[in-house]
Amino acid sequence: MPKVESFTLDHTIVQAPYVRVAGVEHNGKGATVQKFDLRFLQPNTDSIPTGALHTLEHYLSIFLREEIEGLIDISPMGCRTGFYLVVWEEHPVSEIALALHHALQRVLEQTEVPAATAKECGNYKDHSLFSAKEYARQVLSQGISTDPFDHSRLIQVD
Ligand code: ZN
Repeated sequence: MPKVESFTLDHTIVQAPYVRVAGVEHNGKGATVQKFDLRFLQPNTDSIPTGALHTLEHYLSIFLREEIEGLIDISPMGCRTGFYLVVWEEHPVSEIALALHHALQRVLEQTEVPAATAKECGNYKDHSLFSAKEYARQVLSQGISTDPFDHSRLIQVD
């Protein structure tokens, strides 16, 4: 069976919200791709409703692209407790955590969901800006840790 990094994480001892490195891949030809686990909610205690998750995905796909050089993809986790982020080259966890902090702050100021039309989105009826803001606010108020096992290691924000 192939080894899946996230299956090796003990989800019962993590302390969300956090950002952690979930893997680094080198292809042997000079290309490096890094994957991050952006955990919004404590696993197995709560999950983000699909409308909020979907709306957050739309915003983060724009705002994090503006913040992080070489961002390839940000996608919701199937368990709906956070997102995976994939990026070219290796980045410090603190950079990704700070970018997430800034992106969530911007979500709180929004009045319209981007690309929420049948032409631009695969399920445009399933969005909730209200709920997306509630979860963004919750993550910001709890703080984002750069250590998945120690929530006292919050990113320093100005
Ligand atoms: Zn969509």
